[in-house]
Amino acid sequence: MTYTPAQDRYERMTYNRCGRSGLKLPAISLGLWHNFGNDTPHAVKQSIVRRAFDLGITHFDLANNYGPPGGASEAAFGEILRTDLAGYRDELIISSKAGYGMWPGPYGEWGSRKYLIASCDQSLKRLGLDYVDIFYSHRFDPDTPLEETCGALDHIVRSGRALYVGLSSYNSKRTREAVAILKSLGTPCLIHQPSYSMINRWIEEDGLIDTLEELGIGSIVFSPLAQGMLTAKYLGGIPQESRAAQDKSLNRDFLTERNIENIRKLNTIAERRGQTLAQMALAWVLRGDRITTALIGASKAAQVEDCVKALERRDFTPDELAEIGVYARE
Ligand code: NDP
Repeated sequence: MTYTPAQDRYERMTYNRCGRSGLKLPAISLGLWHNFGNDTPHAVKQSIVRRAFDLGITHFDLANNYGPPGGASEAAFGEILRTDLAGYRDELIISSKAGYGMWPGPYGEWGSRKYLIASCDQSLKRLGLDYVDIFYSHRFDPDTPLEETCGALDHIVRSGRALYVGLSSYNSKRTREAVAILKSLGTPCLIHQPSYSMINRWIEEDGLIDTLEELGIGSIVFSPLAQGMLTAKYLGGIPQESRAAQDKSLNRDFLTERNIENIRKLNTIAERRGQTLAQMALAWVLRGDRITTALIGASKAAQVEDCVKALERRDFTPDELAEIGVYARE
């Protein structure tokens, strides 16, 4: 069936400025790491993307290796772009990354100029695009000079393959170094993509969150629901269709009795606030306006809808934050 996006899609979403740039991103963005590979029916992928766009989610996050197999998520999203979103390219912010293993041999991973530029070209082909909006170095490479990685990112922008560049999972120290190099090359770092959730607060401990604020760089935080652990879904066991059941990246060993008990306590706080636990977990990462956007994943369209409702209640009392701090532990 032909898809016509909801007329009121921009009335439902909040858009936050990405650091000190000209770009605004939706407070909730959608990532295609899981559920966009060849093991998921195309109709499911299509319904997730359609619902997201209908709800004002303009930012879709990909990487070369998302699948399975690697590359499949970009190919599936490319197909949806052609069939559903062809007339809407200028309303979309599409990102991709390179850093993890993508093809065999010494040029298929990490941070060399050879790998990053070849991988970007492959991503563009799979997506069927002339350019992506944001291209990331997916991880810091300890063996490649940062000047080379940043030089490749600069080249990717100057050659028209991307509009902006970002860094993912670099710690505060490496971020400062890369940002300085990128600045000297004339291609400022737009955004940083680290993990962050109520039970994963390394960006606070490392100082990355302060660094980004000081440098005027936006932040898009991945796995804000801790891959589904910060939802009510595991309170009654492991549902068959869940990520933990499917032996994907969420290790069921995390679902200890103690952790489940803590999640149950967090769920009670969320209920008191009139939210689902997923909504409270998203409101929590977005509290205080230091985070530009929360990057969720979804296995069905209804999850996207549930998550976007987080924006209806983003404030926390000091007592609520303190209580969350007691139960939200790794
Ligand atoms: P989340 O923490 O949002 O976990 C998503 C999972 O949570 C879903 O697949 C679903 O699990 C469950 N879920 C989502 N919404 C709801 C809801 N409302 N109610 C109940 N369950 C819900 O994020 P991801 O770990 O998926 O990561 C998001 C994105 O971040 C990725 O797609 C990718 O773009 C990016 N990322 C980047 C990385 C990097 O190195 N830069 C690394 C990892 C992710 P289920 O499938 O069980 O239904």
